[in-house]
Amino acid sequence: MLPAIDIEGQERLLNSRVLIIGMGGLGSPAGLYLAAAGIGHLVLCDFDDVDLSNLQRQIAHTTDDIGLSKVESAKKSFLAINPLINITAINQKLQGDSLLEQVSQADVVVDCCDNFETRFAINDACVQSKTPLVSGAAIRFEGQVSVFNPLDESSPCYNCLYPRDGSIAQTCSENGVIAPITGIIGSMQALETIKVISKAGETLQGRVLLLDGLSMQWQSMQLPRNPKCPSCSNTQAL
Ligand SMILES: [Zn+2]
Repeated sequence: MLPAIDIEGQERLLNSRVLIIGMGGLGSPAGLYLAAAGIGHLVLCDFDDVDLSNLQRQIAHTTDDIGLSKVESAKKSFLAINPLINITAINQKLQGDSLLEQVSQADVVVDCCDNFETRFAINDACVQSKTPLVSGAAIRFEGQVSVFNPLDESSPCYNCLYPRDGSIAQTCSENGVIAPITGIIGSMQALETIKVISKAGETLQGRVLLLDGLSMQWQSMQLPRNPKCPSCSNTQAL
């Protein structure tokens, strides 16, 4: 019923393959919405098991799932909503060639991980294989979301936004996060993924949205490509 998506857009969703890395606070809502939207093939990647302390924000998992791998638990939840889609569960940390292989096969990569080392590795693989990346992060009362599209050479990448000098290293488990922030950001990642695939509207490419949940203020920041970016400038020159 949405003219911006229509039957054509719905068919694009059905014929697409989306890789979600991280089945935690962001991956749970993102994956639930993408499964329900009818993404034909979801590839889920995580190497962790469900723990009681995850449940306040990782809404794909329930008390009964404690001890299960997060990818198996999430697969079960997503298929309970939409049994007609294909789901591949990868219960390992993707690195190097295995990461590049999965990223290359995806139409869109949704970064729902919780650490910078993985974020940079995912970004490099997306830049190298020219795969659109929907990036989200949440910590304490703050969230951010953006879209990086290496198919468009004017698009910045994640490394244009953050330097890789180790000056930023924070995870939710060390700093805590108020649960609904991950719900908001993960849902926005699902929306941006649907837009990239269905070609509806304008994505967050070239912008970063920042949420301060304590004052409930959004900021939209323009993000140009860094011509000296160590990740995307070399590839662009090739
Ligand atoms: Zn870059």
